[in-house]
Formats: sequence, C-alpha cells, structure tokens
Amino acid sequence: MELMKDGKRTDGRKRDELRPIKIEAGPLYRANGSCYLEWGGNKVMAAVYGPKEAIPRHIQDPRKAIIEAKYNMASFSVSDRKRPGPDRRSREISKITSEALENVVLVEMFPRASIEVEIEILDADAGTRCAGITAAAVAMADAGIPMRDIPVSCAAGKAGDTVVLDLVGTEDMKGQADVPIAIAPRTDDILLLQMDGHMTAEEIDEALELAIHGCHQIAEMQKEALMTKYKTFEEE
Ligand code: ADP
Repeated sequence: MELMKDGKRTDGRKRDELRPIKIEAGPLYRANGSCYLEWGGNKVMAAVYGPKEAIPRHIQDPRKAIIEAKYNMASFSVSDRKRPGPDRRSREISKITSEALENVVLVEMFPRASIEVEIEILDADAGTRCAGITAAAVAMADAGIPMRDIPVSCAAGKAGDTVVLDLVGTEDMKGQADVPIAIAPRTDDILLLQMDGHMTAEEIDEALELAIHGCHQIAEMQKEALMTKYKTFEEE
C-alpha cells in the first residue's frame, strides 16, 4: 500500500493534519477528575484519584507527592484480543506518563501524598500514549490538581518518505519513523521525546516542529473541554 499519494495520506489527510479529536472533561462521577477522549480510532478514559496519603508508607516522599500513572490497554482494544494485565510496554508508558505529569504538577504542595491517574485504552489505533497523556492532563485539571501548565502530547514521524503529523495505524506499522512528544504548551518545554525508526537530523527538526504545532492545536481543545464542563457546572 502506498502511504503517500498525490500529497494525501491513506486516510485522506494532508501531511500536517491531525486526526479528528473530541475531548470531554469530567464524565465520571466517582473519580476526583476524569476525561474521555476520542482521537481518530483511539478511545481513552482517564481518571484521577487524590491527592491522598501514599500507601504503603515506604513509597511516601516526605518532600513531595508521587504521581502514579497506570496505562492499561483493554483486551478488546486491539483486533487480536490482548492478554489482560500489565506487560513491559504498559509499564514503560505508565512510567513516561508519570514523568511527564510530575514535571508540571506542584508536587511540593502535597508531601507524602500520591496522585493516581488511571488510563484505560478502550480502542487503539496508534498514538495511544499521546492520547493517554493528553486525557490524563485534562483529568488532572478537572480534579483541581495544581499544575504549572496543562501538558499535551502528539506525535509526528515519517511515512511514505514524507514527514507527517499524527501517524495512523498503517503509517505507524509500515512507516519509517514515529516521534511522540509531550510539551508544556505555555513554554514549549519538552516533557517527553521518544523516537523509533530512521530520520535525518533535518527531518527530526521538521517532525518536532510539526508535533509542537499539533500540540498547540490540541491544547486549545483541552481548554475548551474544561471550559465547557465548568460552564455547565455554573448553570446547574
Ligand atoms: P502508541 O499507541 O503510543 O503508538 P505503540 O507504538 O507501542 O504505542 O503501538 C502502536 C499501536 O500498535 C497501538 O496504538 C495499537 O494500535 C497497536 N498495538 C500495541 N500493542 C498491541 C498489542 N498487544 N496487540 C495488538 N496491537 C497492539
């Protein structure tokens, strides 16, 4: 299959175009904060609990809160039923998500506490780590966790010999490179940068520029989702 034909991608997008994204803040009643996000073929729910006393006590940090993100892919989220439970990949994504959030949350305000973020991938079609971080950030804001900025995540890469924004499943599998990033959009500080595949230094620069631009577009949608929730809340 040709990944790039007449300037169009397999799903008809231009090289610098995001897949359609829908964000809802606060759909869950029982969690302290939550977010439901659809991003192309991905469906993600994120829920935040805390800050609360970290248990067991030996994991407590007397100087700051710890962030415990748990990324989980539902067994029905991929076409061949996935074996339930944590694996190497989900542990890695949980770790990078915790680290991205740790760098913006005012963790010093909550010594000995933990803030839990559960990320459930209900449907997966490439870019789930980006979707997970983006949803987790909205759920954190919805829970009222004080943050310096609302993190946002998006990938760029190379498919069909072209540097493209936001790879879809076929591009991720058959493409040449994938570079997921997360940023703090007010300062453009990089909170996550990964890459697999092969690109020249110039192509990496181009991919980063595309991904940062994509992040800024998604940051607006995150803010809108939070504003919509609080407007409805005020009206009630
Ligand atoms: P990301 O979802 O962040 O792009 P990967 O690059 O590891 O993470 O995975 C790319 C895509 O491959 C996923 O979004 C998903 O659609 C698919 N995938 C990942 N793990 C599995 C699995 N165990 N079984 C089937 N498909 C999977």
